[in-house]
Amino acid sequence: MAKTLEHYQDIVRRIGEAERTSGRKVGSTQLVAVTKTFDADAILPVIEAGHRVFGENRVQEAQGKWPALKERFPDIELHLIGPLQSNKAGDAVALFDVIETIDREKIAASLAREIGKQGRHPRLLIQVNTGEEPQKAGIAPGETLAFAERCRKEHGLEIEGLMCIPPFDENPGPHFALLAKLAKEAGLKTLSMGMSGDFETAVEMGATHVRVGSAIFGQR
Ligand SMILES: *Cc1c(COP(=O)(O)O)cnc(C)c1O
Repeated sequence: MAKTLEHYQDIVRRIGEAERTSGRKVGSTQLVAVTKTFDADAILPVIEAGHRVFGENRVQEAQGKWPALKERFPDIELHLIGPLQSNKAGDAVALFDVIETIDREKIAASLAREIGKQGRHPRLLIQVNTGEEPQKAGIAPGETLAFAERCRKEHGLEIEGLMCIPPFDENPGPHFALLAKLAKEAGLKTLSMGMSGDFETAVEMGATHVRVGSAIFGQR
């Protein structure tokens, strides 16, 4: 556990350094600490150190640990960073504060319905499949602007930004640059990009959120 805290502090320090070396304002990148597969006991040291922004990739797994933690620490901000099925849209709207993975019309429609029904308004990002990998979730880069427009106009969703997961075996830089360019064209301010292996590059390329798991909590 002591190790977790050290790792967390090291990541925070490295984000700050990347901000400084790239001429960005220190503190302008939000760390999303990714806690999938880790239980409350493993997460608590980071919460007790004052961290409040966390990411999970499965709705059901998050439902098992976060409601109790959110009750104890009401200012926790929970991000859904994994694929969303439309039959889980209601659960996702009820639990998450940010949903980063809108990637198709059906999900946009389900979220709009649940937001209307529950009166809860999670912040929303579109996931972009920057590598156009067939097995990976996300909207194609070339369809992103039109999709963001449809989310707004047809579903009444307020889209805040974009998220991506570059191909595992490629230099992430060009993918981060593409995401930044698409966000700029769409007039969106939030960029969720960068994980344990490449968050510094993401910060240098303008990430507003980096999602770091194993470098803090250990291997899964
Ligand atoms: C697991 C996960 C992360 C964190 O990955 P690490 O390599 O452990 O830092 C980031 N983003 C998404 C979408 C994930 O599923």
